Amino acid sequence: MTAPGGGPRLAKRLEAVSLSPTLAVMMEAKALRDRGVDVIDFGPGEPDFDTPAHIKDAGTRAIADNLTHYTDTSGIVDLRRAIAARYRETWGADWTDSEVMTGCGGKNVLFLLAQALFEPGDRVAIYAPYWVSFPEQVRLCGAEPIVLHAREADGFVPRARDLEPHAGRLRAVILNSPCNPSGAVIPADEVERFAAFAGRTGAVLISDETYDAFHYGPGTFTSFAAQAARVRDRLVLVNSFSKTYAMTGWRVGYALGPRSLIDAARKVQSHDATHTASISQAAALAAVRGTQEPVITMREEYRRRRDVIVAALNRVRGFSCRVPPGAFYVFPNVTAAERRLDCADTLVFAKRLMQEAGVATVPGEAFGSPGYLRFSYALATPRILEGVGRLEKLLGSAAP
Ligand code: PLP
Repeated sequence: MTAPGGGPRLAKRLEAVSLSPTLAVMMEAKALRDRGVDVIDFGPGEPDFDTPAHIKDAGTRAIADNLTHYTDTSGIVDLRRAIAARYRETWGADWTDSEVMTGCGGKNVLFLLAQALFEPGDRVAIYAPYWVSFPEQVRLCGAEPIVLHAREADGFVPRARDLEPHAGRLRAVILNSPCNPSGAVIPADEVERFAAFAGRTGAVLISDETYDAFHYGPGTFTSFAAQAARVRDRLVLVNSFSKTYAMTGWRVGYALGPRSLIDAARKVQSHDATHTASISQAAALAAVRGTQEPVITMREEYRRRRDVIVAALNRVRGFSCRVPPGAFYVFPNVTAAERRLDCADTLVFAKRLMQEAGVATVPGEAFGSPGYLRFSYALATPRILEGVGRLEKLLGSAAP
């Protein structure tokens, strides 16, 4: 049978799923650039730093040493041990190497876990603003995302109390601290409340901590690993080498959790990618075992840029930007500016900024929160200032 537009008929479950909106922005920015426009691109969610030299060297060495064959589905044991050791040393969590799996990036690991956990009829809580792939992965499993809202006035911190109306009916809760796109960090007492909720209701906590290396304060970062002893069978933690070590292209992510769940996700992986590249695993091992200096350097640079971009955005008329404690994004409220330009929604507003100022951003609709724009500050400070300067020229200056 063929689809109306030609080609084969597609699986029905894909009808509810959309292509990543961040990718759509990247494509539009590229089209403008191809026409010769100097686009300042605040869209991409990836570090502008190179992978540190000692990590690249480990990858090169792996090729020279013929580490170019299949590995264990969940990754080489040294890497899994090193990951478990880090969580033991930092958070006192007692996961062992058989409770760790690696995969082709955090996104892949999250998807494998979703495949292992969710089935049609399941309800999975997600807080908006959310990372774009959370609801789509849930839908791809035929389950239903239940979208709750983190509030701007509360620094976009997700609150466990908002789960109460759904207590006993949730298969899982997906959390992301530091958050893409809001930069919010869940404080220790709230982490505890989520753990208590999971313990009481049976919901599984999936904690995506991809940006854990990038927290600048105010406040401190607390991993859900700190609650591992309390909710051992209800907690799975996901992380990635992509952002921490500027290794997006190497595709290494990982999960730590109960053995039965890790084994199930591993089973899915064994019929999917098999494992992430052996060369990338060797590089990742060098990343965990080696010096963490480059991570600290990147963090300090992001912190400086965060302060620069927040101050600059608050000079634009109709923009209101909080200081996010983590990740490398800011998420200003732009409703006043949107109204002044007579835009029907933030999708239209973002399009106009792209076309009239050559500035690419991601509209809040992509994250379930219209009225906001996501700016990545993983670009050099002069470009940040030039880009926000263009917006100030287009939209006017805020009253001092
Ligand atoms: N989780 C969050 C919140 C992210 O922002 C991203 C990437 O943008 C990922 C997971 C996945 O990253 P990767 O698949 O490169 O590890």
